[in-house]
Amino acid sequence: KGPDPDLVAIAERMATVKHKILILSGKGGVGKSTFSAQLSFALAAKDFQVGLMDIDICGPSIPKMLGLEGQDIHQSNLGWSPVYVESNLGVMSIGFMLPNPDEAVIWRGPRKNGLIKQFLKDVYWGELDFLVVDAPPGTSDEHISIVQFLQATGIDGAIIVTTPQQVSLIDVRKEVNFCKKVGVPVLGVVENMSGLCQPLRDFRFLKMAENGEHTDLTEKVIEYMREKAPEMLDLIAASEVFDSSGGGAAKMCTEMGVPFLGKVPLDPQLCKAAEEGKSCFAEQKCSTSAPALKNIVEKL
Ligand code: ADP
Repeated sequence: KGPDPDLVAIAERMATVKHKILILSGKGGVGKSTFSAQLSFALAAKDFQVGLMDIDICGPSIPKMLGLEGQDIHQSNLGWSPVYVESNLGVMSIGFMLPNPDEAVIWRGPRKNGLIKQFLKDVYWGELDFLVVDAPPGTSDEHISIVQFLQATGIDGAIIVTTPQQVSLIDVRKEVNFCKKVGVPVLGVVENMSGLCQPLRDFRFLKMAENGEHTDLTEKVIEYMREKAPEMLDLIAASEVFDSSGGGAAKMCTEMGVPFLGKVPLDPQLCKAAEEGKSCFAEQKCSTSAPALKNIVEKL
């Protein structure tokens, strides 16, 4: 029996891609897609040729996070063409194939695997420095197929995104063990939503009871500062949101012998950027996540 023709086709297609990075998470909702999108923006801003492939079949959020909702994919004689955000940032997502974004995808394993294979085999990326693959959460059948398909062509490794609390970290351990078992190097772990950092001007929700009435103390403080020291309004106030008394992802990384890439704070500006399909690096003002993300990209 000769080599699997699909694997041969994938290897041929991926021959023009220098680096392949898989983005994983133990759970959904920890910011895996947000990180995949911002990492792609950051790499593209460094003038690399970047492809972002979203294979989170049941919850493709990448089109929205790159401002590409409602776009169609076109086919040429070279294959499916990605949708381009910038001339050096192309995106391919199952989301482009759904008739409407509210549609649920209820597919069984073989059909999902078939689509992933097709994505790897039939998308015409051209020359790429980086292919960032946004995988579904967990360690399912899809992960095993993705890894098998990508391993045939060489994969640089995986970045695992988590939040700081134990319930999330337990699943990251599973994810790290999965990578070890299938032989994918762990490039590192990112702790997302790690503390809430906001400029003082955004603290509108702090209230204080005064004479039995609720007055918004922060409004008063902000008003005072606007007059006396407007530059201080950009001071950052930080607080923990999730319990990280267990030492968070950094400690877990030491225990498991994998690199810790850094922390990204919960940042309303990052959430806004994701909602608007924009890069958080463009609008730096008041954004606390952009420098943190930049540091992480520098480490890769
Ligand atoms: P996942 O891909 O892990 O399911 P998403 O990337 O879709 O998670 O993120 C879930 C939600 O959290 C999105 O609305 C996203 O904008 C928001 N989010 C992710 N990371 C941050 C952060 N560091 N600060 C603020 N909001 C964030």
